[in-house]
Amino acid sequence: MTFELQSLIRDVPDFPQSGILFRDLTPLWAHPDGLRAITTALAAGFEVAAVDYVVGIESRGFIVGAPLASAWGCGFIPVRKPNKLPPPVFQVEYTLEYGTDRLEMSQGILPAGSRVLIVDDVIATGGTAAATAQLVTSAGGVVAGFGFVIELTFLRGRDRLPEVPIHSLVCY
Ligand code: AMP
Repeated sequence: MTFELQSLIRDVPDFPQSGILFRDLTPLWAHPDGLRAITTALAAGFEVAAVDYVVGIESRGFIVGAPLASAWGCGFIPVRKPNKLPPPVFQVEYTLEYGTDRLEMSQGILPAGSRVLIVDDVIATGGTAAATAQLVTSAGGVVAGFGFVIELTFLRGRDRLPEVPIHSLVCY
């Protein structure tokens, strides 16, 4: 890798709302070596033999998770926002700063006992990743770890996650 991942992450103040400093990965994805660099760095944090499926969280988790699954030669399963997947689905409601949201995962796809690595672009408060872990468990899977490109450490999101390996590539 001839560049630092962080040098290709763009800081966008007050997006999507006032007071939020949005960490934008678009320049990193647009770099010809960007996705490969992310995949290589994330893969180095885990043992491929310990993972049966990569679960990516809509939508930026798909961009990170699918190439990782492909590189490892394991399956990829999307966790999606409400009403995107055909029934039957597992559902989990989780709390946001204001109100609640819901995530869904297809039933009948993840074999019971499968070891799952959950992947997203950013972990902030950890609510989204914790809800995804609940979905994987509901489906009979075992959460083997979490991988993120960016961790906002001051929000202590990892404190909400189960005690499994958690790797982030860039911390703020
Ligand atoms: P959370 O549930 O609080 O951990 O939020 C994680 C989700 O929100 C991830 O899917 C991120 O894509 C998105 N997110 C939260 N904060 C930021 C931020 N500062 N910059 C970019 N994305 C963010």
